Amino acid sequence: MIGKGVIKNVGDVAKSLGLSGKAYIFLGKTGRELATKYVLNSLTACGFDVVDNVRDEEELLRHAFDARPDFVVSVGGGTTIDLGKYAAFKLGVPFISVPTAASHDGIASPMVSLKVLKTPYSIKAKPPIAIIADVSVIMNAPHRLLASGCGDVLAKLTAVKDWRLAHMLKNEYYGEYAASLAEMSAKLVMKNAKLIGAHKEEGIRVVIEALVSCGVAMCIAGSSRPCSGSEHMFSHALDMIAPKPALHGEQCGVGTIMMAYLHGIDWKKIKEVLKVIGAPTTAKELGVEDEYIIRALVEAHKIRPRYTILGDTGLTWEAAERLARVTGVIE
Ligand SMILES: [Zn+2]
Repeated sequence: MIGKGVIKNVGDVAKSLGLSGKAYIFLGKTGRELATKYVLNSLTACGFDVVDNVRDEEELLRHAFDARPDFVVSVGGGTTIDLGKYAAFKLGVPFISVPTAASHDGIASPMVSLKVLKTPYSIKAKPPIAIIADVSVIMNAPHRLLASGCGDVLAKLTAVKDWRLAHMLKNEYYGEYAASLAEMSAKLVMKNAKLIGAHKEEGIRVVIEALVSCGVAMCIAGSSRPCSGSEHMFSHALDMIAPKPALHGEQCGVGTIMMAYLHGIDWKKIKEVLKVIGAPTTAKELGVEDEYIIRALVEAHKIRPRYTILGDTGLTWEAAERLARVTGVIE
């Protein structure tokens, strides 16, 4: 459900899906206020028992498990969504995603990325049974988060290329429908870059729909393949190497510029679109030192056993430095 004011409908949506009993709510910082005002009211009005809390990751998950809820709701940003998705998956109960920002494709995907899981990349859980994305709420989130979400969507351009390459060279399963869906999301974001850059409602809707479609593409593929390739491995490597990494989607966007260059596709266009949207395109704008960019490029292929344009042995230091320089990511 995507629209203005839909955050008030969480209870009705849960009811219409045949849910009953106890709801456990995960709340982010922005989520707390909104949840108390709208989501809790809406759920209690529809006859649900509600348990909520804000604690650190590990304690919070234990608290949620102990509560034995019949379903889980997350109201917040990336981590809050993933905590709820993971708890619901472990408990074997349905999950409702109520994102307060459009910062990455986790809002609708079956994937989870959490510190407590101790993997540098995301693992497979179950997708949400419903996504309630309130456009007015998401519009109020900082532009930086929206721009980051666009970086995560543009990443599909190189992720799909990597997937096709793995199919051709390693005979990996490849699904054309899932690949096309992920690619189409990226193309729609490119087409609407100006509206998104100006933080217009129509632009924001496109980004939300693109992120949801990417989640669907992962469900169809049965893995994150259509949405996560070498550009994501670069971002995950940067998370491990840089003392102060940037946002996931911001790093993926910069990674996409460089991996597009390696794939021989129009990297300049991707860079231009990111600029129009207001997303970072350089190490400086990411707030990450040049050296960490090069190291992340060199280490990226080791992040996970997934074949990409980086090959089995990855880039040499010299090649990585040249790549970052040619694409203007470092000076
Ligand atoms: Zn991502």
